[in-house]
Amino acid sequence: METPQLNSLYQQLILEHYRNPRNKAELEEKTVEVHLANPVCGDEIRLQLRIEDDHIAEAKFVGQGCSISQAAVSMMTSLLKGRSLADADGVAKRFTQMMHGDQDAAKDKALGDLRALQGVSKFPVRIKCALLGFDALQEALKKNLAGEEH
Ligand code: ZN
Repeated sequence: METPQLNSLYQQLILEHYRNPRNKAELEEKTVEVHLANPVCGDEIRLQLRIEDDHIAEAKFVGQGCSISQAAVSMMTSLLKGRSLADADGVAKRFTQMMHGDQDAAKDKALGDLRALQGVSKFPVRIKCALLGFDALQEALKKNLAGEEH
């Protein structure tokens, strides 16, 4: 049930990730790195992954910007560690659906803490902030695929 209490709980979770970001550090042994910015808001991230075989062995980021963009990438990296590339791609697609207002996606437990960001979908200007991390992830997965072809 949607209640104001729930929304403020979500707000707290977002601020908690923003103040204590998970996986915010340079990743020494990265296999792929993507730098993305959202100039409208001034958000910026560099997502660094170590991909081994078909899974994400390690995920870290460095960045700056608003609480939504930084909390989203903190939540995302926590969720992705150890996941298969297919899983990671699935989570990215699900999250994107949620940010475009899909109610089923918003209830999907596979999104974990990221569901706290569902309210952002009501603010079109901020959707880009929330999607920045996953846009970088999808770019990184593409780059990884391209790299394998050599
Ligand atoms: Zn932002």
